[in-house]
Amino acid sequence: MPRMKHPVPVPCEVPGCGRPAYVLRLCQSHHRHSLKRTPGSTEPLPAIRPYRKRTDGTVKFAGLRLSRLCVARLRKKARKRGLSNGAAIADVLEAWANRSARRSRR
Ligand SMILES: [Zn+2]
Repeated sequence: MPRMKHPVPVPCEVPGCGRPAYVLRLCQSHHRHSLKRTPGSTEPLPAIRPYRKRTDGTVKFAGLRLSRLCVARLRKKARKRGLSNGAAIADVLEAWANRSARRSRR
């Protein structure tokens, strides 16, 4: 069966989800969960943690929704160091984790 997006956006049928339905009246995350379930299972699908909402000031970058300023700085860092976008993000996160660890040791 081909997987097609609903022509008119409808919400996921899982109560409280609110994401757009992707296939079989489920959002992508709930559809993925449904494929892992035992066939015929009536157990409710788990709640999906909320994602960052789309706003005018954000853009998608390496699978993340970030501000334009953040993307510009990450691109500059990646270019300067000859890194991929993902590696630049990893560098920032590692530096943050190390700073946080040093702070909590004090
Ligand atoms: Zn859903």
